[in-house]
Amino acid sequence: MSPPAASPLKALPAGAGSATVAKSLPQKALEKLGLRRDIDLALHLPLRYEDETRITRLADARDGDMVQIEAQVTHSEVAFRPRRQLRVMVDDGSGTCVLRFINFYPAHQKTLSVGARVRVRGEIRGGFVSREMVHPSFRAAGGELATALTPVYPTVAGLPQAYLRKAVLGGLGRADLAETIPKEFLSKNLPQPLSSLREALQFLHNPTPDVALATLEDRSHPAWQRLKAEELLAQQLSQLQARRVRAAMRAPALRAPVHGPQCTLQEQLLERLPFRLTAAQQRVGAEIAADLQKSLPMHRLLQGDVGSGKTVVAALAAARCMDAGWQCALMAPTEILAEQHFRKLIGWLEPLGIQTAWLTGSQKAKERREALAMIESGAAGLVVGTHAVIQDKVIFKNLALAIIDEQHRFGVAQRLALRSKMSEGGEEPHLLMMTATPIPRTLAMSYYADLDVSTIDELPPGRTPIVTKVVSEARRDEVVERIRSQLAEGRQVYWVCPLIEESESVDLINATQTHEALTAALSGTKVGLLHSRMPPAEKKAVMALFTSGQLGVLVSTTVIEVGVDVPNASLMVIEHAERFGLSQLHQLRGRVGRGAAASACVLLYSTGDAPRLGETARARLKAMVETQDGFEIARRDLEIRGPGEFLGARQSGAPLLRFADLATDTELLAWARALAPVMLDKYPDLAHRHILRWLGGKAEFLKA
Ligand code: ADP
Ligand code: MG
Repeated sequence: MSPPAASPLKALPAGAGSATVAKSLPQKALEKLGLRRDIDLALHLPLRYEDETRITRLADARDGDMVQIEAQVTHSEVAFRPRRQLRVMVDDGSGTCVLRFINFYPAHQKTLSVGARVRVRGEIRGGFVSREMVHPSFRAAGGELATALTPVYPTVAGLPQAYLRKAVLGGLGRADLAETIPKEFLSKNLPQPLSSLREALQFLHNPTPDVALATLEDRSHPAWQRLKAEELLAQQLSQLQARRVRAAMRAPALRAPVHGPQCTLQEQLLERLPFRLTAAQQRVGAEIAADLQKSLPMHRLLQGDVGSGKTVVAALAAARCMDAGWQCALMAPTEILAEQHFRKLIGWLEPLGIQTAWLTGSQKAKERREALAMIESGAAGLVVGTHAVIQDKVIFKNLALAIIDEQHRFGVAQRLALRSKMSEGGEEPHLLMMTATPIPRTLAMSYYADLDVSTIDELPPGRTPIVTKVVSEARRDEVVERIRSQLAEGRQVYWVCPLIEESESVDLINATQTHEALTAALSGTKVGLLHSRMPPAEKKAVMALFTSGQLGVLVSTTVIEVGVDVPNASLMVIEHAERFGLSQLHQLRGRVGRGAAASACVLLYSTGDAPRLGETARARLKAMVETQDGFEIARRDLEIRGPGEFLGARQSGAPLLRFADLATDTELLAWARALAPVMLDKYPDLAHRHILRWLGGKAEFLKA
């Protein structure tokens, strides 16, 4: 769990850092967490609680305790070593403590002037002699103590607790909390009857101070039981419903090769590949082929670590589809990625006589018209592109297979749109989704119960492991030296600059400055720059130069995140690595190590104004050094962030279990499993309302 963020008390000056945050940010952050409806807010439950009902004596506070104290300021100064900071000594009669602020404003200094009595809340660090709190929240002493425990909610950057708390309570007040579980089931086969949803929610958002905190923390409290039961029921209902819907759907069975007398496209493609498929590629290929032969629509997720070779598996599936005389579409989340697929697939398929159409938002009207015509007439067997592939104007002659790369980057609506592109007879296309961000095995079962999963668990041979180093920003020169030596060996280098959510323009300055600095430092080498604000054509041109080896170094914001394939690149430098999420770091690192040369990834970090890196940032960088396995990375990511945030970040609409645990909540799971079919048959309206309440628009996911 993250270190207790300087959690602002209501009506306190918020943690100084957040004072610079733009107004609309919390609203955006709420959306990012998926909190759009009142009920979403009401169901956003605390991760833990803080006890602000008490004042702790400093003498009783130990290292690591989260405490609230009341004390008098005895000394206040702005120190300049090791860096500029406000240091305030307080004394509560039982002991003393130093409060440290790296970011502070005159108003803070005023509240904390010598002689003032203040109420301070934060984490105590250090022992009796040198106790301190870094960036605690504070206000003038006195005033009422809280009468209830203070909930701490899962959140994301830019969404202060105080704001979130208010939003949640507002949502709780407005939300429709009418019961959806028929009364007779509230106690059926359960050790204790379930409380009402309203009671449970009200309690969890506002528990009385006399509750045993442990029962809230381990979620054994009856209020939690109710919420878990609700969630499991929603999951069981939606999956059962999706299964029923899918069992009734039809797809073209892709069997008879109609392509020429001799070899099928598939066979020819395999023959022409410059490599042999790995055993894992063959296995997943066979799983997909078996699905495609059925008249039931395939609904399969192909997961494989970055560089595991998913593209060729997709190409073989496409070939099988075209062998049977049907069209195939491949959609990728970014133009660069789509373009890469396009080139690769053209290289493989055009020599075999297949025509491929390219569709993207940025192409010229004429080009586009031509592509659309080829798609509608069926001249194009394969269509590759970005979101443009699913626009209304695109009419397929006979689409039978839709492949979605990096599926988590697409919304549910987009996946559904691609699926509805079948032109005839009410049949559905087969759907193959690909991802390099695997879902940890323990979770896959529950999230994707209606999805078949194929996993490539082996990298192509001949790859050398990527050596990952964590390096302080202060040693940037050494990194530049390292770049020189890679360039001298004829290798290429990526340098990625961070994405700062608040401001794209700051990103740009960052990347531009790095670009200039590297250009100056590496005379004789061409350094390219790629960022999200560039027009697509320009991006394309820069990427082409790098791919063909004409650029030695590519400085980029995170636009290169997914799928870029330049085997000659052997060094990846990630600047401000501490700001990236774990799976993003892993994806970026996967851009190197694609050829036979030994590759390295340098994670440059900076602590900025803070005395040291935050705990979660450190855990992320450590995980990167320790493992290169995408599944292990995903597992650690979940561990570091907790399922709540994992959910927020994925945003994909996957109905994750936030509260219940399939491994331990077995009784509730059995209850939900038994109830789901009864509810769907006997109480379809309640079932529908229940699904809607819990999954909202996300229920659509199950059809996507
Ligand atoms: P990802 O799974 O990340 O999409 P790609 O499909 O881009 O990976 O494959 C990464 C690289 O490995 C590509 O250059 C691809 O041509 C190559 N490749 C794929 N399969 C094999 C294989 N069986 N043997 C050798 N190289 C392979
Ligand atoms: Mg890929």
